[in-house]
Amino acid sequence: MALAHVLGFPRIGAHRELKFAQESFWKGASDEAALRATGATLRARHWQAQADAGLDFVTVGDFAWYDQVLGTLALLGAIPSRFGFDPKQLTLADYFTLARGSKHHFAMEMTKWFDTNYHYLVPEWTADVKFDGGVDWLHDEIAEARALGHKVKVALVGPLTLLYQGKIKSGIAHKLDLLPKVVAGYQQLLQRLHAAGIESVQIDEPILALELDAAWRAAFAPVYAQLSGTAPALLLTTYFGEVSEHAELLRALPVAGVHLDLVRGADQLEQIAAGWPQDKVLSLGVVDGRNLWRTDLDQVLAKLKPLQVQLGDRLWVASSCSLLHVPVDLANEPKLDDELKSWLAFATQKLAEIVALKLALNGKAAEVEAQFVASRAAQASRRSSSRIHNPLVQKRLAAVTAADAERSAGFSARIAKQQAKWQLPAFPTTTIGSFPQTAEIRQARAAYKRGEIGHLDYLDKMREEIRDVVEKQEQLGLDVLVHGEPERNDMVEYFGEQLWGYAFTANGWVQSYGSRCVKPPIIYGDVYRPEAMTVGWSQFAQTLTAKPMKGMLTGPVTMLQWSFVRDDQPRETTALQIALALRDEVCDLEKANIGMIQIDEPAFREGLPLKSRDWPHYLDWAVRAFKISAAGVGDETQIHTHMCYSEFNDILPWIAAMDADVITIETSRSDMELLDGFGQFAYPNDIGPGVYDIHSPRVPQVDEMERLLRKARGVIPDARLWVNPDCGLKTRGWPETYEALENMVLAAKRLRETVEQERKAA
Ligand code: GLN
Ligand code: ZN
Repeated sequence: MALAHVLGFPRIGAHRELKFAQESFWKGASDEAALRATGATLRARHWQAQADAGLDFVTVGDFAWYDQVLGTLALLGAIPSRFGFDPKQLTLADYFTLARGSKHHFAMEMTKWFDTNYHYLVPEWTADVKFDGGVDWLHDEIAEARALGHKVKVALVGPLTLLYQGKIKSGIAHKLDLLPKVVAGYQQLLQRLHAAGIESVQIDEPILALELDAAWRAAFAPVYAQLSGTAPALLLTTYFGEVSEHAELLRALPVAGVHLDLVRGADQLEQIAAGWPQDKVLSLGVVDGRNLWRTDLDQVLAKLKPLQVQLGDRLWVASSCSLLHVPVDLANEPKLDDELKSWLAFATQKLAEIVALKLALNGKAAEVEAQFVASRAAQASRRSSSRIHNPLVQKRLAAVTAADAERSAGFSARIAKQQAKWQLPAFPTTTIGSFPQTAEIRQARAAYKRGEIGHLDYLDKMREEIRDVVEKQEQLGLDVLVHGEPERNDMVEYFGEQLWGYAFTANGWVQSYGSRCVKPPIIYGDVYRPEAMTVGWSQFAQTLTAKPMKGMLTGPVTMLQWSFVRDDQPRETTALQIALALRDEVCDLEKANIGMIQIDEPAFREGLPLKSRDWPHYLDWAVRAFKISAAGVGDETQIHTHMCYSEFNDILPWIAAMDADVITIETSRSDMELLDGFGQFAYPNDIGPGVYDIHSPRVPQVDEMERLLRKARGVIPDARLWVNPDCGLKTRGWPETYEALENMVLAAKRLRETVEQERKAA
C-alpha cells in the first residue's frame, strides 16, 4: 500500500494568526504564554488537517517561531556565540533577538532560501560554534502531537544543507571543517528522537539540487553512514530541482528512503528509479509545493502506476517540497469566482490531492472519484476557457520578430541624441521612483479602495501629492524628476490589477520572513493590457516641470517573478506576453511626451535557476523580454532600468545586453565594490551606482557620498556616471529623505566642480 505525506505545512495560519501573535509579543502587548498558545493552536489545527485528509502521518518540526533554519540552530545549540546566550537556556525572547537584533547586537543575516521568496537566517560558522544540544521545543511539539493522537514523522533541516547554507565568520577555513561537530550534534538529536519512539525522520537536503563540488558530494555517504546507525528510519528529501546526477549516491546511501521533486525535476524519475533498491522507500513529490494549480491527477496517476508495480508499499506520494510556499486554504477566498477557484489548490486542498492519488493507487479509486472528476474538469476548462486564451494576445505573440527586441540605433548614437535633447549637466542626479508613502497617502488609497471616497476626490489627493513631490524635487535641484508613485501600493500589484490574465486573492498569504507575509498575484491567463496604466499620472506630473519626468514601470521579469505563474505554458511565454503589454505602455508614454521611461527589474537576478548550466536559457529569454518591452521607442527616448539587492558580476554580459540607456543599481552597502565588475567588463551604457542606502533612516553626509562617487569615477567614465540613491524611498520618512537628497545633490555639484578644476588644470 502506498503511503501519503507532506514535507511541511504553512505555519502562519489561514488568517496570519502567527504574524499577529508574534508582533503583539514584540510590542509587549502580550506575553510569551499567549504567543505559545497561538503556536500550539496552529500546530494542532494543521496536524488535524493532515490527519483528516488521510495522510499517513503528520509532520512535526515544520513549525518555527520565526524561521526553520534558526529553529534548527536553536535545537542543536548552534546559535551564534556573539550574542552571549546559553544555548540550553535560550528563551523565546532571546531567539527573536537572534532574528531581529537588539540595541547591543545586530541581527543575524537573512537571505533567500534557494530560489524561493522565503528568507532564512544565515547560520554563522565560527571555530567555537557548538552543537551540544539546545532548546526542547521540538521534543515538546512531538509530545503535543502524540497527545492529540497523531502518528508522527519528524522533519529536520539536514546537516549538510545546514552547513552549506551558513556563512563562515571566523576561525575555520572551510565549512566542512565543522562536519564532525555537526554530525555529533545530529547523532545526539536522532538518538533522543529514537529513544522517544520516533520511527520516521524526514531529513531535508535540498542542496543536492545545486551543482555541488566534489568535497560536498563526497560528504554525503560518510555523514549518512554515521547517522543511520542509531537513528530512526531516515527519509532523505531533495527538492527544488532534479538530482539525477546523484542517482548512484542516492541508491547506495544508507537511509530508509529518498524523496524526489517530480514537479521541478519531472525527467529524473526514470533514471533514479531504475534499479531502485528493494529495501528503500521512494517518496515522489508530485503535488506542487511552489505553485497553486490543481494537480492533473490522471496524468500523475499514470506516471505513478508503473512504479507501484516496481515499488509496492515503498512508494510514497507527497508534495514536491514543503507547502510553506503556497497559501493555506482556498476556502478563505470569497472574492475569487468559482471558475477560477476550480483551477486552484492551496495547501489544504493539496492534502486532499495527495491522498486521492494514494487511494487511487491502493485500489480505492471509487472513494476519490470526485477529486478526479474535479481535476479533469479543471484541466479541460483551463485548456478551453476564453478567460485564459485570448486571441488578441496569441496574434500578437505570433507576430513578434527579432527586430522587435532591438532599438533602431546603437547606444552611442542614441545617447548623443538624448544628450542633445536634454542638455543634462555632468553627473545627472535622479531618484529611483517612489517617495515616502505617508500615512495620508496610504489612507487615501485605502479609503478609495473601500469606496469611501470617490474617484475625483482620490485623483485630487494623488495630484496634490504629485505636485508636492515635484516641487520638492525642484527645490532640491534634482535633474531628472519622478512623480513619486503615490498611487501604487505595490509595484507588481499596481500593474497586475490593470492587466487581464491576473487575479488577486483576499487571503493568499505566504510567509516571506519572520512575521512578514506577501500575497503574490496569480497569472492565470494570457496577459493583455486593455488600456494605458500610468500615462495619466506621468503626463500630469510632466506638466508641473520643465525638467524631464521619468515614467515608471515594473519590468516583465519582475512581474513574473513575484507572482504565481500559470503552469500550462513555459514561463518565458508568459514573460513575453507581459513584455508586449509593457511595450504598449512604453510607446504610449512616449506619445504622451514622456521622454525618459524607467522599467524596473529588481527581481531580474533572483529568477536565475539554481543550476548555472540552466542560466543561459533563462538569461536569454529574460533579456529578450526586457528588450521587447523597451525597444518600441525612438532613439531620443531614454530607457532606464533599475536593479537592487544584487550581485551582478556573474551576469554582466546579460545586463549589458538589456541595452538600457541608463541603469541604476544598489552599490552603497558594498562600498561600490559591486562596481568593480562593471569597470572590468567595461559596461558600455550609462550607469547610476547608488550612493546611499535607503534601508536605513540615517542621513548620509555629503563627504561620504562624494567619496563613493570618486570611487565610482575610478571605474566608470565621467560621461556615463549618474548620481542616485540605492533604491526607491517609499519606506522612508520625509525629513531624512529631504536631507539625504540635499546632500546627494551637493555631492554631485562638488564632483562637477572637481572635474571643472581638473579640466582647467590640464
Ligand atoms: N521604482 C520602484 C521604487 O522606487 C523600484 C522599487 C524596487 O526596486 N524594488 O519604489
Ligand atoms: Zn530597488
